[in-house]
Amino acid sequence: MKKMALHWKILIGMVLGILFGFLMTGFDSGREIVNDWINPFGSIFVRLLKLIAIPLILASLIKGISDLKDISKFSKIGLRTMVTYIITTVIAISIGLVIVNLVEPGAGISEETIARLTDTFAQDSGVQSKIAEAGKDRGPLQFLVDMVPDNAFQAFSNNGLMLQVIVFTILFGISMLLIGEKAARPMKNIFDSLNAVVLKMVDLIMLTAPYAVFALLAQVVVTAGDPEILTKLLAYAGVVVLGLVLMICFYLLIIKFVIGKNPFWFLKQISPAQLLAFSTSSSAATLPVTMERVEEHLGVDKEVSSFVLPVGATINMDGTSLYQAVAAVFIMQVLWPEGLTMANQLTIVVTALLASIGSAAVPGAGMVMLVIVLEAIGFPADRLPIALALIFAVDRPLDMCRTVVNVTGDATVSMLVAKAVGKLGTPKTKNWDDHLDEVK
Ligand code: ASP
Repeated sequence: MKKMALHWKILIGMVLGILFGFLMTGFDSGREIVNDWINPFGSIFVRLLKLIAIPLILASLIKGISDLKDISKFSKIGLRTMVTYIITTVIAISIGLVIVNLVEPGAGISEETIARLTDTFAQDSGVQSKIAEAGKDRGPLQFLVDMVPDNAFQAFSNNGLMLQVIVFTILFGISMLLIGEKAARPMKNIFDSLNAVVLKMVDLIMLTAPYAVFALLAQVVVTAGDPEILTKLLAYAGVVVLGLVLMICFYLLIIKFVIGKNPFWFLKQISPAQLLAFSTSSSAATLPVTMERVEEHLGVDKEVSSFVLPVGATINMDGTSLYQAVAAVFIMQVLWPEGLTMANQLTIVVTALLASIGSAAVPGAGMVMLVIVLEAIGFPADRLPIALALIFAVDRPLDMCRTVVNVTGDATVSMLVAKAVGKLGTPKTKNWDDHLDEVK
Protein backbone atom coordinates (compact mmCIF):
# COMPACT_ATOMS: atom_id res chain seq x y z
CA MET A 1 0.00 0.00 0.00
CA LYS A 2 1.24 3.47 -0.84
CA LYS A 3 2.21 5.39 2.29
CA MET A 4 0.08 8.41 3.08
CA ALA A 5 1.94 11.71 2.60
CA LEU A 6 3.07 13.42 5.78
CA HIS A 7 1.00 16.54 5.25
CA TRP A 8 -2.19 14.50 5.05
CA LYS A 9 -1.35 12.71 8.27
CA ILE A 10 -0.67 16.03 9.99
CA LEU A 11 -3.90 17.51 8.63
CA ILE A 12 -5.91 14.56 9.90
CA GLY A 13 -4.22 14.95 13.29
CA MET A 14 -5.16 18.64 13.34
CA VAL A 15 -8.80 18.07 12.41
CA LEU A 16 -9.19 15.27 14.97
CA GLY A 17 -7.49 17.47 17.60
CA ILE A 18 -9.95 20.30 16.95
CA LEU A 19 -12.94 17.95 17.08
CA PHE A 20 -11.64 16.32 20.24
CA GLY A 21 -11.09 19.74 21.83
CA PHE A 22 -14.69 20.75 21.10
CA LEU A 23 -15.95 17.44 22.41
CA MET A 24 -14.05 17.89 25.66
CA THR A 25 -15.33 21.44 26.23
CA GLY A 26 -18.75 19.78 26.58
CA PHE A 27 -17.67 17.98 29.77
CA ASP A 28 -17.15 19.51 33.18
CA SER A 29 -13.65 18.18 33.58
CA GLY A 30 -12.91 18.06 29.84
CA ARG A 31 -10.62 21.08 29.90
CA GLU A 32 -8.63 19.67 32.75
CA ILE A 33 -8.25 16.31 31.07
CA VAL A 34 -6.87 17.92 27.92
CA ASN A 35 -4.62 20.14 29.96
CA ASP A 36 -3.24 17.37 32.16
CA TRP A 37 -3.19 14.38 29.85
CA ILE A 38 -3.10 15.55 26.24
CA ASN A 39 -1.30 18.88 26.22
CA PRO A 40 2.01 17.48 27.59
CA PHE A 41 2.49 15.50 24.38
CA GLY A 42 2.20 18.67 22.32
CA SER A 43 4.67 20.40 24.62
CA ILE A 44 7.15 17.53 24.32
CA PHE A 45 7.02 17.80 20.54
CA VAL A 46 7.60 21.56 20.55
CA ARG A 47 10.50 21.07 22.97
CA LEU A 48 12.02 18.44 20.70
CA LEU A 49 11.85 20.81 17.75
CA LYS A 50 13.36 23.67 19.70
CA LEU A 51 16.00 21.34 21.04
CA ILE A 52 17.49 20.80 17.63
CA ALA A 53 17.14 24.36 16.33
CA ILE A 54 20.50 25.62 17.60
CA PRO A 55 22.58 22.51 16.73
CA LEU A 56 20.96 22.59 13.31
CA ILE A 57 21.78 26.25 12.68
CA LEU A 58 25.33 25.67 13.84
CA ALA A 59 25.99 22.59 11.75
CA SER A 60 24.11 23.71 8.70
CA LEU A 61 25.48 27.24 8.53
CA ILE A 62 29.07 26.09 9.06
CA LYS A 63 28.60 23.45 6.39
CA GLY A 64 27.05 26.05 4.09
CA ILE A 65 29.86 28.57 4.50
CA SER A 66 32.71 26.07 4.47
CA ASP A 67 31.39 24.55 1.23
CA LEU A 68 31.71 27.94 -0.46
CA LYS A 69 34.56 28.31 -2.86
CA ASP A 70 34.86 32.05 -2.36
CA ILE A 71 33.70 34.38 0.38
CA SER A 72 32.41 37.09 -1.93
CA LYS A 73 29.58 34.72 -2.81
CA PHE A 74 28.52 34.76 0.80
CA SER A 75 28.27 38.52 1.00
CA LYS A 76 26.25 38.46 -2.22
CA ILE A 77 23.81 35.98 -0.67
CA GLY A 78 23.69 38.05 2.53
CA LEU A 79 22.94 41.32 0.81
CA ARG A 80 20.34 39.82 -1.51
CA THR A 81 18.61 38.12 1.41
CA MET A 82 18.36 41.27 3.48
CA VAL A 83 17.08 43.40 0.60
CA THR A 84 14.49 40.78 -0.39
CA TYR A 85 13.31 40.40 3.20
CA ILE A 86 12.83 44.14 3.55
CA ILE A 87 10.92 44.35 0.26
CA THR A 88 8.54 41.48 1.09
CA THR A 89 7.89 42.93 4.54
CA VAL A 90 7.07 46.38 3.16
CA ILE A 91 4.71 44.74 0.65
CA ALA A 92 3.03 42.83 3.49
CA ILE A 93 2.56 45.98 5.57
CA SER A 94 1.18 47.86 2.56
CA ILE A 95 -1.33 45.09 1.82
CA GLY A 96 -2.43 45.24 5.46
CA LEU A 97 -2.80 49.01 5.44
CA VAL A 98 -4.74 49.12 2.18
CA ILE A 99 -7.33 46.55 3.19
CA VAL A 100 -7.81 47.76 6.75
CA ASN A 101 -8.46 51.26 5.41
CA LEU A 102 -10.85 49.96 2.77
CA VAL A 103 -12.83 47.56 4.96
CA GLU A 104 -12.74 49.66 8.15
CA PRO A 105 -13.36 46.79 10.57
CA GLY A 106 -13.21 49.25 13.49
CA ALA A 107 -16.40 50.97 12.31
CA GLY A 108 -18.63 48.16 13.51
CA ILE A 109 -17.40 48.02 17.11
CA SER A 110 -19.94 49.38 19.61
CA GLU A 111 -19.20 51.19 22.88
CA GLU A 112 -20.71 48.22 24.63
CA THR A 113 -18.24 45.79 23.07
CA ILE A 114 -15.32 48.03 23.96
CA ALA A 115 -16.51 48.18 27.56
CA ARG A 116 -16.97 44.43 27.70
CA LEU A 117 -13.54 43.71 26.22
CA THR A 118 -11.92 46.22 28.55
CA ASP A 119 -13.59 44.64 31.57
CA THR A 120 -12.50 41.19 30.50
CA PHE A 121 -8.97 41.78 29.34
CA ALA A 122 -7.48 45.16 30.29
CA GLN A 123 -6.22 43.88 33.65
CA ASP A 124 -5.38 40.45 32.21
CA SER A 125 -1.84 39.45 33.10
CA GLY A 126 -1.22 38.59 29.43
CA VAL A 127 -2.05 42.13 28.33
CA GLN A 128 -0.12 43.72 31.18
CA SER A 129 2.98 41.64 30.54
CA LYS A 130 3.00 42.57 26.84
CA ILE A 131 2.96 46.25 27.77
CA ALA A 132 5.68 45.77 30.38
CA GLU A 133 7.85 43.80 27.98
CA ALA A 134 7.58 46.45 25.29
CA GLY A 135 8.30 49.24 27.75
CA LYS A 136 11.97 48.38 28.25
CA ASP A 137 14.12 51.36 27.39
CA ARG A 138 16.11 50.69 24.22
CA GLY A 139 18.33 52.89 22.08
CA PRO A 140 17.89 52.81 18.29
CA LEU A 141 21.00 50.68 17.70
CA GLN A 142 20.47 48.34 20.63
CA PHE A 143 19.27 45.58 18.28
CA LEU A 144 22.71 45.59 16.61
CA VAL A 145 24.45 45.32 19.96
CA ASP A 146 22.08 42.52 20.94
CA MET A 147 23.10 40.53 17.88
CA VAL A 148 26.68 40.16 19.04
CA PRO A 149 27.23 37.59 21.79
CA ASP A 150 29.72 38.21 24.58
CA ASN A 151 29.64 34.60 25.54
CA ALA A 152 29.23 31.97 22.86
CA PHE A 153 28.05 29.28 25.23
CA GLN A 154 25.44 31.53 26.72
CA ALA A 155 24.15 32.21 23.21
CA PHE A 156 24.00 28.49 22.46
CA SER A 157 22.07 27.86 25.62
CA ASN A 158 19.23 30.25 24.87
CA ASN A 159 16.82 29.77 21.97
CA GLY A 160 15.93 33.45 22.16
CA LEU A 161 19.48 34.34 21.14
CA MET A 162 19.38 32.76 17.72
CA LEU A 163 20.76 35.85 15.98
CA GLN A 164 23.78 35.72 18.30
CA VAL A 165 24.33 32.09 17.34
CA ILE A 166 24.18 33.10 13.68
CA VAL A 167 26.75 35.87 14.17
CA PHE A 168 29.14 33.51 15.97
CA THR A 169 28.65 30.79 13.38
CA ILE A 170 29.26 33.09 10.41
CA LEU A 171 32.50 34.30 11.97
CA PHE A 172 33.50 30.72 12.68
CA GLY A 173 32.67 29.53 9.16
CA ILE A 174 34.53 32.38 7.48
CA SER A 175 37.57 31.74 9.69
CA MET A 176 37.45 28.09 8.67
CA LEU A 177 37.63 29.14 5.02
CA LEU A 178 40.56 31.43 5.79
CA ILE A 179 42.73 28.83 7.49
CA GLY A 180 42.83 26.80 4.29
CA GLU A 181 41.33 23.47 3.37
CA LYS A 182 43.89 21.22 4.99
CA ALA A 183 43.76 22.81 8.42
CA ALA A 184 39.95 23.09 8.34
CA ARG A 185 39.32 19.51 7.19
CA PRO A 186 38.82 17.90 10.66
CA MET A 187 36.35 20.60 11.70
CA LYS A 188 34.56 20.37 8.38
CA ASN A 189 34.16 16.61 8.72
CA ILE A 190 32.68 17.02 12.19
CA PHE A 191 30.17 19.64 11.15
CA ASP A 192 29.19 17.86 7.92
CA SER A 193 28.45 14.77 9.89
CA LEU A 194 26.70 16.69 12.68
CA ASN A 195 24.52 18.28 10.04
CA ALA A 196 23.46 14.90 8.66
CA VAL A 197 22.74 13.60 12.15
CA VAL A 198 20.62 16.59 13.14
CA LEU A 199 18.59 16.41 9.92
CA LYS A 200 17.93 12.75 10.70
CA MET A 201 16.70 13.82 14.13
CA VAL A 202 14.23 16.10 12.36
CA ASP A 203 12.99 13.10 10.35
CA LEU A 204 12.50 11.08 13.51
CA ILE A 205 10.74 13.84 15.40
CA MET A 206 8.46 14.42 12.43
CA LEU A 207 7.22 10.85 12.66
CA THR A 208 5.33 11.95 15.77
CA ALA A 209 4.02 15.19 14.23
CA PRO A 210 0.50 13.93 13.40
CA TYR A 211 -0.07 12.92 17.03
CA ALA A 212 1.56 16.04 18.43
CA VAL A 213 -0.59 18.43 16.40
CA PHE A 214 -3.65 16.57 17.69
CA ALA A 215 -2.54 17.48 21.22
CA LEU A 216 -1.58 21.05 20.33
CA LEU A 217 -4.87 21.85 18.63
CA ALA A 218 -7.02 20.16 21.27
CA GLN A 219 -5.30 22.44 23.79
CA VAL A 220 -5.87 25.53 21.62
CA VAL A 221 -9.59 24.73 21.43
CA VAL A 222 -10.10 24.16 25.15
CA THR A 223 -8.26 27.35 26.07
CA ALA A 224 -10.00 29.53 23.45
CA GLY A 225 -11.95 32.54 24.70
CA ASP A 226 -15.65 33.18 24.92
CA PRO A 227 -17.14 32.54 21.45
CA GLU A 228 -19.50 35.49 21.79
CA ILE A 229 -16.59 37.92 22.19
CA LEU A 230 -14.78 36.24 19.33
CA THR A 231 -17.67 36.91 16.95
CA LYS A 232 -17.60 40.63 17.78
CA LEU A 233 -14.07 40.76 16.46
CA LEU A 234 -14.85 38.80 13.34
CA ALA A 235 -14.50 41.76 10.96
CA TYR A 236 -11.05 42.63 12.32
CA ALA A 237 -9.89 39.00 12.30
CA GLY A 238 -11.34 38.62 8.80
CA VAL A 239 -9.26 41.55 7.52
CA VAL A 240 -6.07 40.10 9.00
CA VAL A 241 -6.80 36.68 7.50
CA LEU A 242 -7.68 38.21 4.12
CA GLY A 243 -4.38 40.08 4.14
CA LEU A 244 -2.49 36.92 5.02
CA VAL A 245 -4.20 34.99 2.22
CA LEU A 246 -3.27 37.76 -0.24
CA MET A 247 0.31 37.53 0.95
CA ILE A 248 0.36 33.77 0.31
CA CYS A 249 -1.05 34.46 -3.19
CA PHE A 250 1.77 36.94 -3.70
CA TYR A 251 4.35 34.27 -2.80
CA LEU A 252 2.71 31.81 -5.15
CA LEU A 253 2.90 34.35 -7.98
CA ILE A 254 6.63 34.70 -7.28
CA ILE A 255 7.02 30.92 -7.34
CA LYS A 256 5.22 30.73 -10.68
CA PHE A 257 6.57 33.72 -12.54
CA VAL A 258 9.97 34.41 -11.01
CA ILE A 259 11.12 30.97 -9.91
CA GLY A 260 9.27 29.20 -12.73
CA LYS A 261 7.89 26.34 -10.60
CA ASN A 262 4.38 25.08 -10.09
CA PRO A 263 2.81 26.83 -7.05
CA PHE A 264 0.87 23.69 -6.09
CA TRP A 265 4.07 21.68 -6.06
CA PHE A 266 5.61 24.34 -3.81
CA LEU A 267 2.66 24.25 -1.43
CA LYS A 268 2.71 20.47 -1.29
CA GLN A 269 6.41 20.35 -0.46
CA ILE A 270 6.35 23.10 2.14
CA SER A 271 2.97 22.18 3.72
CA PRO A 272 4.31 20.13 6.67
CA ALA A 273 6.23 23.24 7.80
CA GLN A 274 3.14 25.41 7.31
CA LEU A 275 0.96 23.03 9.28
CA LEU A 276 3.46 22.98 12.12
CA ALA A 277 3.75 26.75 12.06
CA PHE A 278 -0.04 26.86 12.45
CA SER A 279 -0.05 24.31 15.26
CA THR A 280 2.88 25.71 17.25
CA SER A 281 2.57 29.48 16.49
CA SER A 282 6.34 29.67 16.46
CA SER A 283 8.59 30.08 13.45
CA ALA A 284 11.58 29.24 15.67
CA ALA A 285 10.10 25.88 16.65
CA THR A 286 9.20 25.22 13.02
CA LEU A 287 12.67 26.16 11.74
CA PRO A 288 14.19 22.64 11.73
CA VAL A 289 11.30 21.40 9.61
CA THR A 290 11.36 24.43 7.32
CA MET A 291 15.07 23.82 6.71
CA GLU A 292 14.56 20.15 6.00
CA ARG A 293 11.68 20.81 3.59
CA VAL A 294 13.44 23.62 1.75
CA GLU A 295 16.69 21.69 1.31
CA GLU A 296 15.43 18.19 0.65
CA HIS A 297 12.05 18.88 -0.95
CA LEU A 298 12.41 22.24 -2.70
CA GLY A 299 15.98 21.77 -3.88
CA VAL A 300 17.56 24.86 -2.33
CA ASP A 301 21.28 24.39 -1.76
CA LYS A 302 22.51 24.42 1.83
CA GLU A 303 24.82 27.34 1.04
CA VAL A 304 21.69 29.45 0.69
CA SER A 305 19.14 27.85 3.00
CA SER A 306 21.48 27.54 5.96
CA PHE A 307 21.81 31.31 6.05
CA VAL A 308 18.51 32.55 4.65
CA LEU A 309 16.19 30.44 6.80
CA PRO A 310 17.57 30.92 10.33
CA VAL A 311 17.99 34.63 9.66
CA GLY A 312 14.49 34.73 8.16
CA ALA A 313 12.93 32.97 11.15
CA THR A 314 14.12 35.77 13.38
CA ILE A 315 13.95 38.84 11.20
CA ASN A 316 11.56 38.19 8.32
CA MET A 317 8.01 38.18 9.61
CA ASP A 318 5.72 39.23 6.81
CA GLY A 319 2.63 37.83 8.52
CA THR A 320 3.46 39.54 11.78
CA SER A 321 4.09 42.91 10.20
CA LEU A 322 0.90 42.72 8.14
CA TYR A 323 -0.98 41.93 11.35
CA GLN A 324 0.67 44.83 13.15
CA ALA A 325 -0.39 47.25 10.45
CA VAL A 326 -3.99 46.02 10.48
CA ALA A 327 -4.17 45.88 14.27
CA ALA A 328 -2.70 49.36 14.73
CA VAL A 329 -5.14 50.95 12.29
CA PHE A 330 -8.08 48.95 13.67
CA ILE A 331 -7.25 50.14 17.18
CA MET A 332 -7.07 53.73 15.94
CA GLN A 333 -10.40 53.38 14.13
CA VAL A 334 -12.02 52.32 17.39
CA LEU A 335 -10.19 54.29 20.06
CA TRP A 336 -8.33 57.17 18.45
CA PRO A 337 -9.83 58.19 15.10
CA GLU A 338 -8.09 61.57 15.20
CA GLY A 339 -4.76 59.72 14.97
CA LEU A 340 -5.60 58.23 11.57
CA THR A 341 -3.39 60.52 9.51
CA MET A 342 -1.28 59.72 6.47
CA ALA A 343 1.88 60.59 8.43
CA ASN A 344 0.97 58.08 11.13
CA GLN A 345 0.28 55.39 8.55
CA LEU A 346 3.72 55.98 7.05
CA THR A 347 5.23 55.75 10.53
CA ILE A 348 3.46 52.42 10.86
CA VAL A 349 5.21 51.16 7.71
CA VAL A 350 8.63 51.99 9.15
CA THR A 351 8.00 50.87 12.72
CA ALA A 352 6.16 47.68 11.76
CA LEU A 353 9.12 46.82 9.54
CA LEU A 354 11.59 47.38 12.37
CA ALA A 355 9.30 45.74 14.90
CA SER A 356 8.94 42.57 12.86
CA ILE A 357 12.72 42.38 12.60
CA GLY A 358 12.94 42.75 16.35
CA SER A 359 10.12 40.27 17.14
CA ALA A 360 11.16 36.97 18.63
CA ALA A 361 9.90 33.97 16.66
CA VAL A 362 7.70 32.72 19.48
CA PRO A 363 3.95 32.73 20.15
CA GLY A 364 2.49 36.13 20.83
CA ALA A 365 5.66 38.11 20.17
CA GLY A 366 3.96 40.19 17.49
CA MET A 367 1.63 41.69 20.05
CA VAL A 368 4.51 42.98 22.16
CA MET A 369 5.94 44.71 19.14
CA LEU A 370 2.52 46.16 18.35
CA VAL A 371 2.83 48.18 21.55
CA ILE A 372 6.03 49.69 20.16
CA VAL A 373 4.30 50.53 16.87
CA LEU A 374 1.47 52.22 18.78
CA GLU A 375 3.89 54.17 20.94
CA ALA A 376 5.76 55.37 17.85
CA ILE A 377 2.64 57.03 16.47
CA GLY A 378 1.94 58.71 19.79
CA PHE A 379 -1.04 56.57 20.79
CA PRO A 380 -2.28 57.78 24.21
CA ALA A 381 -0.50 55.65 26.83
CA ASP A 382 -3.46 55.46 29.16
CA ARG A 383 -5.52 53.76 26.46
CA LEU A 384 -2.89 51.10 25.70
CA PRO A 385 -4.37 48.42 27.96
CA ILE A 386 -7.77 49.00 26.33
CA ALA A 387 -6.16 48.80 22.89
CA LEU A 388 -4.60 45.44 23.61
CA ALA A 389 -7.72 44.19 25.38
CA LEU A 390 -9.56 44.95 22.16
CA ILE A 391 -7.57 42.49 20.08
CA PHE A 392 -6.41 40.04 22.74
CA ALA A 393 -9.31 37.60 22.41
CA VAL A 394 -8.49 36.70 18.82
CA ASP A 395 -4.75 36.99 19.08
CA ARG A 396 -3.96 33.30 19.36
CA PRO A 397 -5.81 32.16 16.22
CA LEU A 398 -4.35 35.10 14.31
CA ASP A 399 -0.90 34.26 15.65
CA MET A 400 -1.31 30.76 14.25
CA CYS A 401 -2.22 32.14 10.83
CA ARG A 402 0.48 34.82 10.69
CA THR A 403 3.17 32.31 11.65
CA VAL A 404 2.20 30.26 8.56
CA VAL A 405 2.85 33.34 6.43
CA ASN A 406 6.13 34.06 8.23
CA VAL A 407 7.38 30.56 7.44
CA THR A 408 6.09 30.55 3.85
CA GLY A 409 7.77 33.91 3.27
CA ASP A 410 11.12 32.57 4.45
CA ALA A 411 10.81 29.54 2.17
CA THR A 412 9.88 31.70 -0.83
CA VAL A 413 12.78 34.10 -0.28
CA SER A 414 15.22 31.20 0.08
CA MET A 415 14.09 29.95 -3.35
CA LEU A 416 14.39 33.43 -4.82
CA VAL A 417 17.92 33.90 -3.50
CA ALA A 418 18.91 30.37 -4.51
CA LYS A 419 17.66 30.95 -8.03
CA ALA A 420 19.49 34.28 -8.30
CA VAL A 421 22.84 32.77 -7.31
CA GLY A 422 22.38 29.56 -9.31
CA LYS A 423 21.85 27.32 -6.28
CA LEU A 424 18.40 25.94 -6.97
CA GLY A 425 18.70 22.28 -7.88
CA THR A 426 16.67 19.11 -8.04
CA PRO A 427 15.34 18.05 -4.65
CA LYS A 428 16.79 14.89 -3.14
CA THR A 429 14.44 13.55 -0.52
CA LYS A 430 15.86 11.54 2.34
CA ASN A 431 13.61 9.27 4.39
CA TRP A 432 13.99 8.51 8.05
CA ASP A 433 14.63 4.81 7.33
CA ASP A 434 17.10 5.10 4.42
CA HIS A 435 19.77 3.19 6.31
CA LEU A 436 17.55 1.17 8.59
CA ASP A 437 18.45 -2.15 6.96
CA GLU A 438 22.14 -1.58 7.62
CA VAL A 439 21.66 -1.11 11.33
CA LYS A 440 18.94 -3.62 11.92
N1 ASP B 1 4.38 33.72 16.46
C1 ASP B 1 5.04 34.46 15.43
C2 ASP B 1 6.21 33.67 14.91
O1 ASP B 1 6.82 32.91 15.63
C3 ASP B 1 5.46 35.81 15.88
C4 ASP B 1 4.24 36.65 16.15
O2 ASP B 1 3.68 37.19 15.19
O3 ASP B 1 3.78 36.74 17.29
O4 ASP B 1 6.53 33.75 13.76
